[in-house]
Amino acid sequence: MRIVKYILVSIFETLLRFFPMPCKTGLREFGNPGPDSPVFLTCNYHLTVERVKRALKGMDCYLLVANSRGINVWCGAAGGHLNNHRVVSVLKTSGIEERVNHRSVILPQLAGPGVEPRAVRKKAGWSIIWGPVYAKDIPAFMEKKGEKNQEMRGVKFPPLQRIEMAVMWAFPLSVTAGLLTSLFWPRMNLSLNVFIWVFSFFVFLAFPLYSKWLLWRKFEFLRVSAFLWGTFLVGLLVYSVLLHSFDGKFWLWWGVVSLLVICLLSVDLAGSTPVYKSGLHEDRFFKVVLDKNKCRAAGCCEQVCPRNCFEVDRSHHTARMPRASQCVQCGACIVQCPFDALWFENQKGEKISPETIRKFKLNLMGQRALGMD
Ligand code: SF4
Ligand code: SF4
Repeated sequence: MRIVKYILVSIFETLLRFFPMPCKTGLREFGNPGPDSPVFLTCNYHLTVERVKRALKGMDCYLLVANSRGINVWCGAAGGHLNNHRVVSVLKTSGIEERVNHRSVILPQLAGPGVEPRAVRKKAGWSIIWGPVYAKDIPAFMEKKGEKNQEMRGVKFPPLQRIEMAVMWAFPLSVTAGLLTSLFWPRMNLSLNVFIWVFSFFVFLAFPLYSKWLLWRKFEFLRVSAFLWGTFLVGLLVYSVLLHSFDGKFWLWWGVVSLLVICLLSVDLAGSTPVYKSGLHEDRFFKVVLDKNKCRAAGCCEQVCPRNCFEVDRSHHTARMPRASQCVQCGACIVQCPFDALWFENQKGEKISPETIRKFKLNLMGQRALGMD
């Protein structure tokens, strides 16, 4: 019965994934936790909490749910909603300090852009351990006594996640299109909805085929739109040839409507892919610069980088960035480096200092919002 409920909740919330879905904050217990039991912390996005609860099943532990305004961990942390203040607040007000005799809390790695361990330690006396990216890896992470391999540190965009994103885009688009066509062009309702669902699935399932092309980081929006629209028009041409139908009105309707839907989908693919930053984000042209003279091989960058860009060479007391091209400019490494050995810099030599990155978090629209420290 619980699995059925979990599946139904997942389907419902995936359809509405576009919107924040807050749940109750505070302390939850799993199994029979004692004073030595581990303490986990996550955001208050309902779907995330459900997935973390599932991963913690069978363990004796505590889970703290911090207020992120109902936004998921990565977007919440990068947008300044899951921040030091919110973490300190739940540590201090949830009653966890009376339940455990240690002061270590395990946070999801993707909270790295928004939460600073030094600030949390100073304000609350707790130390942060960076857990894995995905909740499903928590049991393996605990078995390895808190050690993470590359697999646990990296974000991926597997087929299941791509299907979720396709649904997330298709549902609100098809509801809006359905309402509009019902009012003005009722005959087009079904075909337009079929188009939106089929096309959204095509865009996300075909993502691996064109994702490398997006990493050129120039004119992504135009290239993505041109590629998708071109593909659709070729399909339409084949359809017209097969049916011997070359009705001008039909072409005009589908040409305009498909271009609108495709532009909407292309505008912020980045909001739906963890492996590419869209043309809407100006900071995609900034690169992470590593100052080897300042680096002390502390390894925080390696622990939080979701694209595994770093390798720490402890014998030479320095970090390297052998996979720098995979960077998605999340800023986590810069926020976490205790020696300010990392910063953003663009081709013109303009810099964004670690101090600025820590103070102003990236939000979903690529603007910067003041963090609540
Ligand atoms: S976190 Fe900073 S000091 Fe530590 S390895 Fe990375 S760059 Fe070097
Ligand atoms: S190297 Fe890039 S992807 Fe990795 S943590 Fe730093 S900013 Fe994020």
